Amino acid sequence: MKIDVVTIFPGMFTGAFAEGMVARAREAGLCGLAVHDLRQWAEGRHQVTDDYAFGGGPGMVMKPEPFFRAVGELKVPGGRVILMSPQGRPFRQALAAELAAAPQLVLLCGRYEGVDERVRLGLCDDEISIGDYVLTGGELPAMVVIDAVVRLLPGVLAEGSAEGDSFATGLLEGPQYTRPREFAGMAVPEVLISGDHGAVARWRRREALRRTLAMRPELLASAPLTAEDRKILAELGQEPVI
Ligand code: SAM
Repeated sequence: MKIDVVTIFPGMFTGAFAEGMVARAREAGLCGLAVHDLRQWAEGRHQVTDDYAFGGGPGMVMKPEPFFRAVGELKVPGGRVILMSPQGRPFRQALAAELAAAPQLVLLCGRYEGVDERVRLGLCDDEISIGDYVLTGGELPAMVVIDAVVRLLPGVLAEGSAEGDSFATGLLEGPQYTRPREFAGMAVPEVLISGDHGAVARWRRREALRRTLAMRPELLASAPLTAEDRKILAELGQEPVI
């Protein structure tokens, strides 16, 4: 997987990916990440990337030509060109998994009032929003997408470690504990130190169902549930919410 980001603020990405899993994935050659300054595809001495909005109104709009030139140069066959936009498809774990299968992502970051509509219509395969709020630019959304996608690439995390994550199975993940066994008057549940792997798996499933029911009950409507899960949910419905 190769990720190309097109932005007028390439420096924003330096610190974000200097440490942690994405940095390690790059070092190990599991993914490539290149951040490009859009201005190199802008014309004139001032390399202008924005202009006034037709029809008037406050704020500037990003010009289409530099984005078209950038994508023309960067995109490889099978690559997906994605515009970061508050109006796009909501970014979810399933979409991160879908993107992780692409050979290349080209992420376009807007600024100001947004990007000329012809970029969306003529250049992009997709438009992604990281949530129902408006940020000042597409750089933070692009970083969110990169982080969520790269951790799903083969070899980046330990085998199987993303499988029980929240949303991967349609549920939230249950609680996690580490040492010490007692802390601040709170003990680790006995089952987790029982050595009984079957009992641990059943406890984890029950707690994932409990947490999802309490925090995000709407997820249960589309989660793949077994008859046993439904029985547990019926029991949990009778219990007080913790
Ligand atoms: N005027 C636009 C609107 O109302 O839809 C918002 C423009 S926003 C200030 C500037 C840029 O930030 C957008 O072009 C987009 O690239 C990025 N952006 C802002 N919020 C975002 C979000 N929730 N998800 C993804 N990108 C976002």
